[in-house]
Amino acid sequence: MRVPIIAGNWKMNKTVSEAVEFVNYIKNELPDPSEREIVLAAPTLSLTSMVQAAKDTPLKIAAENCYCRIAGAYTGETSPRSLSLAGIHHVILGHSERRRLFNETDELINQKVQVALRNGLCPIVCCDDTMGRRIAGKKVRWVVSRILADLKGLSPADVTKVTMAFEPSWAIGTGQSADPEQAAEGCYLIRQTIRDMYGEDIGNAVRILYGGSVNETNIKALMAYDDIDGVLVGGASLDPDRFLKLVNS
Ligand code: PGA
Repeated sequence: MRVPIIAGNWKMNKTVSEAVEFVNYIKNELPDPSEREIVLAAPTLSLTSMVQAAKDTPLKIAAENCYCRIAGAYTGETSPRSLSLAGIHHVILGHSERRRLFNETDELINQKVQVALRNGLCPIVCCDDTMGRRIAGKKVRWVVSRILADLKGLSPADVTKVTMAFEPSWAIGTGQSADPEQAAEGCYLIRQTIRDMYGEDIGNAVRILYGGSVNETNIKALMAYDDIDGVLVGGASLDPDRFLKLVNS
């Protein structure tokens, strides 16, 4: 029912020509979009060239960030409207690197999510586990306030266009993935929170990814869990052969 997503997040890597070369290398090797949705998130400067290179293929191009306004005196920012009109499908919002290095708050992320949706972009909203709190002696439970804050004010129809990503910050870029059970538990708790907010059907429809040191070796075990609808991959998405292995695994 939920089409899995394999999404690469290149972060601040690859020049425009490297990005286009990558797209040309993989574009004819992709699975049928009814089986898997393939997304590549890249630095802003490469996005339009990638959209052109990916034309008439199932590959979807994503931005790694956008602003919460569509135009105006915001030096250096990127308009979600411009991204959408340029053929970009998704935008990653609330990545732990944006929260930690650029001081993005839940309030700002929520504004970005709303404006992105209004302008036709599908947000991939990341939650790390610093929102988590160990309740003494009990199972790990995640405080849901972050999800409530990031999705605040969204209509049920909006929420179905959002993809969530559970990304423990300690697993990002460290080579130490969460074990599949832990990852599935994080995704399950996000889904439960959405069920509580929007009801069973919407909770069941939203796709939830795991991210944090995913590679060709651990992807199968992660995706074997029902609540993990796909992966958000940093380091292992930078090499086209490795990315194709992930995509076709
Ligand atoms: P990683 O990054 O796969 O390199 O751990 C994941 C991410 O930051 O989304």
